[in-house]
Amino acid sequence: MPQVMWKNGRLIPWEDGKTHVINQGLHYGCAIFEGIRFYETDKGPAIFRLPEHLERFFLSASVLKMKIPFSANELAGGIKDLIKITGLKEGYIRPIAWFADEKIGLNMIGGRVDVAIAVLPWDKKTTKTALDFKISPFRRIDPRTTNVEAKIAGHYVNTHLALCDAIESGFDDAILLDTEGFVAEASASNVFIIKGGFFVTPPPGTILNGITRNTIGHLAVDRGYMFIERKFMPNSFNSCSEAFICGTAWEVMPIATVDGRKVGNGKPGEITKMIMSLYANTVRGRKKEYLEWLTHVY
Ligand code: PMP
Repeated sequence: MPQVMWKNGRLIPWEDGKTHVINQGLHYGCAIFEGIRFYETDKGPAIFRLPEHLERFFLSASVLKMKIPFSANELAGGIKDLIKITGLKEGYIRPIAWFADEKIGLNMIGGRVDVAIAVLPWDKKTTKTALDFKISPFRRIDPRTTNVEAKIAGHYVNTHLALCDAIESGFDDAILLDTEGFVAEASASNVFIIKGGFFVTPPPGTILNGITRNTIGHLAVDRGYMFIERKFMPNSFNSCSEAFICGTAWEVMPIATVDGRKVGNGKPGEITKMIMSLYANTVRGRKKEYLEWLTHVY
């Protein structure tokens, strides 16, 4: 584990990154967070799409009526300091904010908000080259019940249940449908199918509007592909040529099967492989046209 983390504006020893068990965030899931990656580039470590992640952090907070007592610049400074101190070249950044008053009660409007940031080494999630998915019996949280575009801790009860069910049934991950039966997303990533050379992905509304999803859209369009946001049913996995998931943690990961049926030939597709390698080069600053997405630490 790293030696340090950032809490409420100060660098503190890792073991002091604590909170009291009596707080609203822990009891009712009212915490908001981000998952950000930084990669080694020829100019040292660089954070991928930091402003967009911080923007979503503040959007998530505003949904919960949570006032973050720091600016985006201060958080960015904290993240850079942590990366420098840990000396990591690549890794994962986890900013989190929660209602921290040591009180029981749901209404915390105007209450104390604590903010912490951890920077961790990145562990590869799998050695597999393509994943097996189960269509989850749990539907994705409905936009009429919460704001699904916010990255709120409590929302992850939904995807935790879906992921547990998928893993217990022998799959790698779950695909959650929305309440109408259209494909929404995977447990912690967005879904794309490739159909007739088009990149098709579910529209915002029932999904977390992923920053990687947005990146893939740009990369695809810049290579002359059509990027289409359209609802589709799970049977589209039988008729598409390729499919993949994408997210900060997963990057781009091919879908091998859905409910035991092969997608395409069950192997990573050619377009998927192209976009995987383009993404890997983009995040590492090897593509001049996308350097603006990188925030260099030094
Ligand atoms: N959906 C969910 C539910 C997620 O947790 C994530 C990971 N943040 C994503 C999609 C992908 O989002 P991003 O590309 O911004 O990491």
